[in-house]
Amino acid sequence: MIRTRFAPSPTGFLHIGGVRTALFSWAYARKHGGTFVLRVEDTDLERSTPESVKAILDGMHWVGLDYDEGPFYQTQRFDRYKAVIQQLLDTGHAYHCYMSKDELDALRAEQEARGEKPRYNRLWRPEAGKNLPPVPEGVAPVVRFRNPVGGSVVWEDAVKGRIEISNEELDDLIIARPDGSPTYNFCVVVDDWDMHITHVIRGDDHVNNTPRQINILKALGAPLPVYAHLPMILNENGQKMSKRRDAVSVVDYAGQGILPEALLNYLARLGWGHGDDEFFSMQQFVEWFDLENVSASPSRFNHEKLLWLNGLHLKAADLGRLAELVRPRLAESGIATDGGPRLEDVIALVRERVQDVNALARECDYFYRKRTADSADVEKHLAGDAPARMARFAERLAALPQWETEAIHGLFKPFCAEEGIKMGQLGMPLRVLVCGTTQTPSVDAVLALIGRDEVLRRLTA
Ligand code: GLU
Repeated sequence: MIRTRFAPSPTGFLHIGGVRTALFSWAYARKHGGTFVLRVEDTDLERSTPESVKAILDGMHWVGLDYDEGPFYQTQRFDRYKAVIQQLLDTGHAYHCYMSKDELDALRAEQEARGEKPRYNRLWRPEAGKNLPPVPEGVAPVVRFRNPVGGSVVWEDAVKGRIEISNEELDDLIIARPDGSPTYNFCVVVDDWDMHITHVIRGDDHVNNTPRQINILKALGAPLPVYAHLPMILNENGQKMSKRRDAVSVVDYAGQGILPEALLNYLARLGWGHGDDEFFSMQQFVEWFDLENVSASPSRFNHEKLLWLNGLHLKAADLGRLAELVRPRLAESGIATDGGPRLEDVIALVRERVQDVNALARECDYFYRKRTADSADVEKHLAGDAPARMARFAERLAALPQWETEAIHGLFKPFCAEEGIKMGQLGMPLRVLVCGTTQTPSVDAVLALIGRDEVLRRLTA
């Protein structure tokens, strides 16, 4: 039974890289009929905030990555962590260390002065035949994990391949602070164990934690999960995505009018591929996804491509749903849709032309109110006898027995022939007068939707 998890730390917003991690963990569980767990890693009490927890839960909801278990909160599991720390102390896999912070700093300074890598000198580590220093009074000890000496930790990373880290590289990790609170790496281990996680899929900024976590799991006699470390997502310049430079929060993308399914589709392609397939549904992705096809090298975020995919998803999306996204955006610009054409019909007509929901809303506006035309358009298309001609055309429209696209279209040819003009000389001034822009879909369909009364009002105003 496959069990994966997404384990964000609630210290900010839901990061785009986090969403990709969540997506791959989710897809792996879904593909194998497994379970996807959400775990909030909130042990860093200073940096974790309730707002951030909310941002993560809202973000997960927005992208539609549903979890089967959780959210579990590490802060609610302290008793369990303490029990496991005691277990490690009892079995000799952990020990109390009374070295004070000052002593540790002094040790580090000495090591650095000698050009050595700073590390704990195992002073308090019990060994057969070794005399430990006398326990100082009034000092609350930390608990350190007794990391194996010699040998190395090896794992077959499902993305990066075989990784081997020498135990010489690994300190005796502090697993409990002087106040008894457990530390980050330790909580992750206990959680992955207790939650029966079979596949730890996470960002490769955690590769350094993995050998420590494996050693602790082994000391606990716990089964080892498969590890899959996903490479980073870089920005278009090949730099680490940063809050300052790049849109990194899912909320930013929602605000940009990106559809969640387009974002997921795009993120799926960042570091994973299925032939040349670019546009696909999440159902399709789940069917195709496997860790074997995840690339080991970092990928670059390409906004153009995201927009292109978003445009494709816009064209495939349910019209009623799009209307619910567009309506509040129109309202923000003071445009009410009641009394006007059905928003779904308007969207169906204009969505070919745009790539995001904000642009979609802008394309819908002139169906509900006349835009103020650019003076250049007015000069170009409404000079000379054009206004008089538009008045004559308005009479034809007024007299039309049926107000529908075909019928309106039927007026064009004869009218142009009579007036001795080309279609553009009718269509363009018509657009400028009715819509306030020359950039519209087929003008007969636009007029049909706007409605006769409103069209005549705009033509004769
Ligand atoms: N809490 C960690 C983070 O937000 C993830 C830890 C893990 O996946 O093991 O980066």
